[in-house]
Amino acid sequence: MQTEIDSRLRAAPIALAGEELDAWARDRANSAAAAMLESFHVDIANGAVWLGNRRVLILQAQWFLDLRQTLIDALGHEGARAVLTRLGYAAGVRDADLSMKQHPDFETAELITTGGAFHALQGSAKAVRRRVELDLASKHCYLEFSWRNAIEDEGRLAQQGHGPRESCWMEIGYASGFLSTCIGGDILVRELECAAQGSTECMCVARFAHEWGDVSEDLKYLDPAYLPRADLTRERATALQPTPPMQPVAKETAGEGQNPLVGRSGAFDAVLQQARRVGKTTAAVLLLGESGVGKSVFAQFIHDCSNRAGKPFVEVNCAAIPESLLESELFGVERGAFTGASSSRSGRFEEADGGTLFLDEIGLLPPAAQGKLLRVLQSQKYERLGSNKTQQANVRLVAATNNDLAAAVRAGTFRSDLFYRLNVFPITVPPLRSRLGDLPLLIDHLISGFCNRYGRAPKGITPEAYRAMLHYDWPGNIRELENVIERAVILVDDGEAIDVHHLFTSDAAFRKTGLRWLDDKGNLVGDRDPADAQLAAAPDSSSVDPWFETAIEQPNHSLEGIEQAVVMATLRAFDGSLIKAAQHLGVTRAQIDYRIKKWGVDPRLLGSA
Ligand SMILES: [Zn+2]
Repeated sequence: MQTEIDSRLRAAPIALAGEELDAWARDRANSAAAAMLESFHVDIANGAVWLGNRRVLILQAQWFLDLRQTLIDALGHEGARAVLTRLGYAAGVRDADLSMKQHPDFETAELITTGGAFHALQGSAKAVRRRVELDLASKHCYLEFSWRNAIEDEGRLAQQGHGPRESCWMEIGYASGFLSTCIGGDILVRELECAAQGSTECMCVARFAHEWGDVSEDLKYLDPAYLPRADLTRERATALQPTPPMQPVAKETAGEGQNPLVGRSGAFDAVLQQARRVGKTTAAVLLLGESGVGKSVFAQFIHDCSNRAGKPFVEVNCAAIPESLLESELFGVERGAFTGASSSRSGRFEEADGGTLFLDEIGLLPPAAQGKLLRVLQSQKYERLGSNKTQQANVRLVAATNNDLAAAVRAGTFRSDLFYRLNVFPITVPPLRSRLGDLPLLIDHLISGFCNRYGRAPKGITPEAYRAMLHYDWPGNIRELENVIERAVILVDDGEAIDVHHLFTSDAAFRKTGLRWLDDKGNLVGDRDPADAQLAAAPDSSSVDPWFETAIEQPNHSLEGIEQAVVMATLRAFDGSLIKAAQHLGVTRAQIDYRIKKWGVDPRLLGSA
């Protein structure tokens, strides 16, 4: 590790957070991402993939997770952590080096924002910046950021319950190596919260070693001499449930092609862990989330995790029962209690005795029923309608709503005391669009389910159809996905691949996602980030005709020659400012940067200053 701050690096003190930080960092990060994308190419003829002048290897994420697990099996947690942290550190140093070459005009604080672009393009995590404080003169560094979707967290699905021992070892090493190289000092990253331990994202802080205080624990994993051999008998004995690595969590009882509990994204797994944890208790649970996200499947899952699993699971949709009948439906009724009550019958509370009662759309519960429900929650007692006989309720309650109950309390339509009773353990099930990483698994699961059900045998799914689904917002969430896939499986002919027109009607609203893919020549294509697209909104090309006529008369009439002439003229017009020239030409700064480097031009020589 370097110990002295490198004097090559220019660095004005900087302290940014929130929107100010976002605005400042966005352009740099986009520019870094564009530079990397431009330097990425696939040489199909020679079987090689390149990132800049470096050959890269495309591996399945599963390969990495298997490697990680193999290391844990062979070396124990400490040994695996040490190996992965060091490998990550070395990779971070190499990438920082590449970034510094690609952005010679970036200041230190700008360089560190490019790390997130590397993460995104390598598919290892989405980095979100929270706070940047950097003052190299006084050797102060405080970078706060988080990772979403970190690949190392996916490994935990295979080994549920490992708790605090799981964390993003390789990423910690990578970020430490990347930042130490960019900043030119000993920067150590700590993961203060890891999604593998149940939080929704991995919260990290990077500081100079001297600012952390005692760093012996951090440095241990970077020390090449430290390679503990595990006491494997002990390690294995404490390993929980040796499930096969990385099978998607699929629940058989969800049925074929039905709203499945399938996924491996961090967002999905965080919910699954909460549900599993609370499932073992008797606490009431409130499931929140948009309609169609699968709240009832989670309710069933909570029931299945509990020690009531063998007892009834009774589901009541409060929206589906007329308000006047809801009370008798829930609590039962004695004969003659009201006109039409010609015989006594039990309610859902009695049916669910010993088991779980799931009340969907609880926000629509009428006031009288709210009062009764509150009493059951407080005293486990209730009476049938028209009866004085008090019954004992032995029911675990799970409720769900897509309404804002707190707002309903403020509006006076929902009892606050009932809200607080229900809100003991709220679980928010994320919408599908915020767990798009689960789409491929869900799609496969649903297609095979519906193919079984309808006896169909389509020949897979076209890449265009796949992309269309990734570009769609899924306002109706998993329920909508199910409907779309079910319809497609019915529409497609046997032996034909499912295509876009089987899935969507022509008026489906797709969005820009920043998704990119390779065309048949190995070039990266795809839509751009909204910010890029704005820059790329070039003026109407028909207006260039007059000078185009003149340009092709010139000696440099090759396309590259003309391009070079135009870029150089634009740079001169904007005093060598890459950003202004890029905006004017409707390309990214990185694209200009890449070209002038290729031509061996120093933009500073073009400015008048
Ligand atoms: Zn983590």
